[in-house]
Amino acid sequence: MSTATDVFAKIRGHERVAQLRAAREADVLPYFRRLEGPAGPIVEMEGATRIMLGSNNYLGLTEDPRVIAGARSALERYGTGLTGSRLLNGTIGLHLELEQELAAWMGTEDAIVFTTGHQANLGALGTLLGPGDTVIADSGDHASILDGCLLSKAKLRAFRHNRLDKLAGQLERAAADPDARGGTLVVVDGVFSMEGDVAPLPDLVALCRAHGARLMVDEAHAAGVLGARGAGSCELLGVEDEVDLRMGTFSKSLASCGGFLAGSTEVIDFLRIQSRAFLFTAAAVPAAVGAALAALRIVRSDEGPELCARVLRNAAYLNRGLHALGFHVVEPQPLPDGSTVMTPIIPVLVGDDWKAVLLWRALFDAGVYVNVALHPAVAPGAALLRTSVMATHDEATLDRALEAFARVKREFEIEHGPLPAPAVPAD
Ligand code: PMP
Repeated sequence: MSTATDVFAKIRGHERVAQLRAAREADVLPYFRRLEGPAGPIVEMEGATRIMLGSNNYLGLTEDPRVIAGARSALERYGTGLTGSRLLNGTIGLHLELEQELAAWMGTEDAIVFTTGHQANLGALGTLLGPGDTVIADSGDHASILDGCLLSKAKLRAFRHNRLDKLAGQLERAAADPDARGGTLVVVDGVFSMEGDVAPLPDLVALCRAHGARLMVDEAHAAGVLGARGAGSCELLGVEDEVDLRMGTFSKSLASCGGFLAGSTEVIDFLRIQSRAFLFTAAAVPAAVGAALAALRIVRSDEGPELCARVLRNAAYLNRGLHALGFHVVEPQPLPDGSTVMTPIIPVLVGDDWKAVLLWRALFDAGVYVNVALHPAVAPGAALLRTSVMATHDEATLDRALEAFARVKREFEIEHGPLPAPAVPAD
């Protein structure tokens, strides 16, 4: 028996497809641009040299000879791929060393390595939660967190980005929900991937405690950047022992590809035998594991703190420079001790999707590559240019990027009207 509707029918006329075509035709598509060399502070991209302000290679370690040597020796010893799951034929000594060293770094009993960070979130949330449980997520959480929540079939409740009053409301609603027979997990990004701000973790811990909820923190953009050991936002904010589960990825500071979860032996061992995103996929290729291990060793060496300090200094420099040019950038956040926290992510608010794309193209032509974040990566009408820096950028390069931003802004505003101004006016 045939069905009347072709499942592919929805593709035709899909809003996203129309946008993709229009952007291609106008040659302003900010995505899938071709890199022709290493992802350093200055890159070769589509026949030109461009300043890279759109990479998550925060410590610049993808080009470090020790990280390359780690990848190369793993490749030479174990070959190009493991062709099987960690459970069966895919575990090598490097995975076990990496898990041990990650747990020591995070200060947890154990850690488990996944093939990607996306799978780590899916594998944790989809396994630890089930029907009857409640998961409460910040609206700015990464897509992989949302995917894990949906996979779990737990009741998903969202709260407005960083709004503790809204979280408290959701915790109360969950407690009063007769269908919520199971437990509650709150899950947040430690550093939000698009906004670049830090979750108010001490307050989140207190709220979770008061309501008997568990707390999971995604440290993808914080591990290898924040805290004295570079262990992330939980370390920086002094709540490592109070957060139940931490997730991280190798695809940013750790200069590779893969992900991990760090927590108690009880939870990590459960994931080892029960997490489908861990069991039913091939282990990361040896070169990826060797590179991540070498990068982790650099972060944990005496060099680590200086690398972390350098990327944050560069971020402060770019943030101040963009602010002085009249761009709306997220301000460094105050901490309870009176200091402020900077992250390597400096979003420039644009608002309108097409304006963001056109501004991206003008910067690209001026020799600066940034990322464009549109809905659903950000709230509707809150399109932004996501800029990010590396420890290996120098001030002269950042100055050249700022000159390009200044020139492009002048010309852009004449043609398209004013861009959003800083919340706090520039001096
Ligand atoms: N969590 C966050 C906050 C992320 O930004 C990302 C990747 N952009 C991931 C998880 C997924 O990590 P991976 O790239 O290793 O799949």
